[in-house]
Amino acid sequence: MRAAPDFDRACQLREDLDFLEAQLQSDATRLIPVHRSGNLLISRESGVEPFMPTVGAASSLLEGDAELVWLGRLEGHGCFAVDISHLPDGERHPAIPPEVEVRDLRYLLARLPAGQAHVAAYASGMLGWHRRQRFCGACGASTRPRRGGHLRICSASSCGAELFPRLDPAVLVLVQHEDSFLLGRQARWPKGMYSCLAGFVEPMETLEETVVREVAEETGVQVTDVRYQASQPWPFPSSLMIGFTARALSREIHLGDEELEEAAWFTREELKHPTRPDFYTPKGESLSGQLLARFALGEDPSAE
Ligand SMILES: [Zn+2]
Repeated sequence: MRAAPDFDRACQLREDLDFLEAQLQSDATRLIPVHRSGNLLISRESGVEPFMPTVGAASSLLEGDAELVWLGRLEGHGCFAVDISHLPDGERHPAIPPEVEVRDLRYLLARLPAGQAHVAAYASGMLGWHRRQRFCGACGASTRPRRGGHLRICSASSCGAELFPRLDPAVLVLVQHEDSFLLGRQARWPKGMYSCLAGFVEPMETLEETVVREVAEETGVQVTDVRYQASQPWPFPSSLMIGFTARALSREIHLGDEELEEAAWFTREELKHPTRPDFYTPKGESLSGQLLARFALGEDPSAE
């Protein structure tokens, strides 16, 4: 889900109200409508594409007090996310052609090219944050957007709290013991899927401490040599996955915190040529898939 080369967040323009207003008056400016937790897309025989009308074609989407976020420049044109959650049915609006459908982000991310998926998830993530931050957590008063939608300020003069978009950091770890790798599965996952262990960072923890705690909590396995490898945005709704490898000091597994229904060791050979029926691991661009490809399957020439 890397950013497209033709997408620039142009964050230096977020406070330039004259510029943002001019962008909203420009017919060429792009809009990315988001309806609650769904993005809008068009299915064609050649595949799906995001519905991103220009202001010239869909200025009526800007009527009322729809929440707006300046996303940046896409293919050289200004681009805003616009919240259309107030529409009872997000697909029915004069500016939205009948072939447009509302689909959740997971559906989009599995089908759109990485650059388009990135912008769609960014739009969805920012507007989701606005919907969850309409009231101040400190005093309960309403909040108002600022800086092109990248800040909210509490409306109570006695408070004035500033709310910035937050992420929930989570670690993901590929644990190795000799030629085996520790994978787990949650009951709600698709049948047969196993993945790296993961968990949220707690206050006052380093990322490395989170890795050690989570692996011990979930499987009873003690790990050391925790090494950062890569990270990945995980917009469900607002996580950042931070990927590590670690070495196990023991192999014995005791399932602990009920997050996993199973955890097991798999040799490289078992991962490359699974013998369990239906067994599979995440593929593609997912962080878990990247770590497995690089360290367990040897599919990356930069593997250690
Ligand atoms: Zn407040």
